Amino acid sequence: MRRLLSAGLPITAVLLIAGCAPQAVYRSHLLPPQPPRPAGVAITWLGTAGVLVSDRRTGILIDPYVSRFGLFSIGLGKALRPDRDLIRGWVRHLGPDAIDLVAVSHSHFDHAADAAFFALDATAPLIGSASTLNIGRGAGLAEERLRLARPGQAIKLGDFTVTFIESRHGPALFGRIPYPGTIDRPLIVPRPARDYKLGATYAILIRHPSGTILHHGSAGYRPGMYDGIQADVVLLGITGRGDTQAYLAEVPLKLKARMVIPIHFDDFFRPLERNPSFLSSAHFSEFCRAAEQSSLTIRTVPLCEPVRVLPLN
Ligand SMILES: [Zn+2]
Repeated sequence: MRRLLSAGLPITAVLLIAGCAPQAVYRSHLLPPQPPRPAGVAITWLGTAGVLVSDRRTGILIDPYVSRFGLFSIGLGKALRPDRDLIRGWVRHLGPDAIDLVAVSHSHFDHAADAAFFALDATAPLIGSASTLNIGRGAGLAEERLRLARPGQAIKLGDFTVTFIESRHGPALFGRIPYPGTIDRPLIVPRPARDYKLGATYAILIRHPSGTILHHGSAGYRPGMYDGIQADVVLLGITGRGDTQAYLAEVPLKLKARMVIPIHFDDFFRPLERNPSFLSSAHFSEFCRAAEQSSLTIRTVPLCEPVRVLPLN
């Protein structure tokens, strides 16, 4: 485990860099790490929108991204090569049989660059948009391991039922959606960030006898997309959202969420550390304050530790 996380900076340095407020808010809302009860569902947050959802018998890995390329590599358009050793290490750490499906919300590098290699190493299928499947083909995944996401179609997996819902990407880059377009042929690494074009954007609804989890990985939405849908726990990407109140109204409030867990606020241009550093553009504290003023229950989760989130009571 220690090898998988960077040595990290002393906590004081992290505080100096990130500012005290978001770190303190994050810690004050932290759910304690604990193994899941036999009947429950746990999540393990890997930073960004990367989450393993598991009931111990079946595991669904969403948007895993551990290579975390540096800002200069991204900004200078350098070719990005996913860190295969690190990915193999994470597959081992999570458990050789822990991943039954790798699901991808959209094809940007910070959601999809590592996903196909996780699927390869875990011998699991990859499900996502047509663009995501071309990342899978480029990584060498066999066709029978590629599943095209069909919005509204319920996929049974153990005690889970997984449904993709059409969503919209948030206006993450100066009010615009970065890297629009589709990936129309197999993407063979290394490739620059701009080649990881958006493709379709999905939210992922995961139903289980112990409750319902919704993964909303990018901070945009289609008005009305959650009409008639309820979720107990919402894993909510918060970086690159537009108006916070409108986002809350259309996503967690519409879903009547009983618990909101913010994700994708950590600085993913730096290696994974025990203590997340914060993207200033995530406005983490402001988000938590606004959500709580809207009577939502906010909880944060530790990095890289399973935390039981269902059942809620
Ligand atoms: Zn994105």
